[in-house]
Amino acid sequence: MSTKKTLRFLLGDQLNYKHSWFTKKPDADVLYVMMEVKTESEYVCHHLQKIIGFFAAMRQFKEHFEQKGFEFLYLRLDDKNNKQDFKQNLDWIIKKYKIENFEMLEPDEYRLDLYFKDYINDLVIDARVLDSEHFLTQRNDLQEFFGKKEKYLLESFYRRMRKKYNILLDKDKPLGGKWNFDLTNRKKYPKKIDIPAHKAFANDVTEILQMIEKQKLDYIGRLADAKSFEYPITRKQALHVLDYFLKNLLQHFGDYQDAMSEKIIFGFHSRLSFALNLKILDPLEVIEKAQEYMHAHADSVDISQVEGFIRQILGWREFMRSFYWVKMPQFAKTNFFDNHRQLPKFFWDANTKMNCLKNCIENSLDNAYAHHIQRLMVTGNFLLLAGVHPDEVDLWYLGIYIDAIEWVEITNTRAMSQWADGGGLATKPYVSSANYINKMSDYCKNCFYKFQKKYNDDAQEDACPFNSLYWNFLDEHKDKLKNNMRMSMVYNVWNKIDAVEQAKILKQAKLYLDNLQNL
Ligand code: FAD
Ligand code: SF4
Repeated sequence: MSTKKTLRFLLGDQLNYKHSWFTKKPDADVLYVMMEVKTESEYVCHHLQKIIGFFAAMRQFKEHFEQKGFEFLYLRLDDKNNKQDFKQNLDWIIKKYKIENFEMLEPDEYRLDLYFKDYINDLVIDARVLDSEHFLTQRNDLQEFFGKKEKYLLESFYRRMRKKYNILLDKDKPLGGKWNFDLTNRKKYPKKIDIPAHKAFANDVTEILQMIEKQKLDYIGRLADAKSFEYPITRKQALHVLDYFLKNLLQHFGDYQDAMSEKIIFGFHSRLSFALNLKILDPLEVIEKAQEYMHAHADSVDISQVEGFIRQILGWREFMRSFYWVKMPQFAKTNFFDNHRQLPKFFWDANTKMNCLKNCIENSLDNAYAHHIQRLMVTGNFLLLAGVHPDEVDLWYLGIYIDAIEWVEITNTRAMSQWADGGGLATKPYVSSANYINKMSDYCKNCFYKFQKKYNDDAQEDACPFNSLYWNFLDEHKDKLKNNMRMSMVYNVWNKIDAVEQAKILKQAKLYLDNLQNL
């Protein structure tokens, strides 16, 4: 049995091919360790494609560097030596190889950060935690930037990031004369539109699927064909997705980034979040390639598309990461509206008459994917209007999406979508009636419910639930929201509705809330 001086441990979302650990020649004294453990696969009920995607990408990463001469100990989920727990596995490996130094990269989840601080505290050998060399900000950047301010708003942070990394600048002025093209990025899909098919791979994951079934891992969602897992699982594939996006989709990314349709799944979105969150792709390389592509193809790709895309990664993604570290752990317990209802069952099977929800949930179960506006203005909007407990909301989002890792999931869910922290980053709750959904999609056309109807005043029970629930939400929480300047217009509208009409709307909302499971 060989001995090793140093053990370098990597978590499943630390597949940074460009990390300095791997840019030097392999060192015979170093053993790299990766493991598939049940505690990680089951701490929340994940989508099947998420579990497969993680394991497949981890295995590819290990193979890539093994071929370059780096020595790995990789514990598969069904390895007979696997104790299904990080600490127990690591203890066994340290003893077996007479390891003298333990090294790992900073975990990105609070839960794992605490877990490994604890582990390292108890270790009798030397230990070091290093930077994952992925993010463009430090954990506490927002705190330093905003000082004692209670609310952190994206825009000023984003401008600073543009300047810091010299992105989309003309000297120190924003390229195109504006920092933000958000207002031009709100188009609905036209009746006829050609969207290039998404870049899909035919990764054969049969073996991983069989292992998951044999090990009886709990999961949600489905995978159509184990012989063609479509998400990128290697750096080469991830770079292909990026390249394909730049050439085929970026030209309309901004235009249609908020648009939704029953016939369209990915639209002009990049589908890069999985590769980014596992660190297979580097955020700066994605941003710089988008910028370079625009400069080289000024005739087909304009600034408003590229700015819209870069804002998501240089702005929102980095902002959320720092927000998470500044606000945790109290943040995970916030429940500003004191919501307590259970998640409706149809979130697990898409069995609802509401066409918008049915469509977004079905796509999520089929593809482990929904784009930002579907997550925010359809599922998230409904859950907030329905008063579902933010813990239940978090568990659903954390499980169902292939890109869901707590630092980026909980910040989007609790702060942005559910306003559970009372407005730490969003100036007002993202709620809407059917109006918005009808404006941005074709969902309402084929829906059992009528988007214009606020309550049922005839034999048909088909008033759109979003309408009465929206006004009910505003009425119920007026003490908490009425002084919010950005809400004054909607309260003016509500206050102008006569008392009899208001009572009918609120009565309808109560009926729907009492009957949530059957909507
Ligand atoms: P694109 O639309 O092509 O955007 C490009 C990239 O920008 C994304 O890949 C992503 O890395 C980044 N990005 C875009 N919006 C955000 C955002 N709000 N926060 C952080 N990064 C962003 N994103 C996750 O990565 N993981 C999550 O668990 C997650 N949960 C969400 C939950 C809710 C309730 C909401 C409203 C949003 C959530 N998002 C999450 C953000 C966003 O929906 C996804 O990043 C995006 O849909 C991923 O698809 P894409 O790669 O095609 O993104
Ligand atoms: Fe959704 Fe209401 Fe439109 Fe139906 S009518 S699709 S429930 S917004």
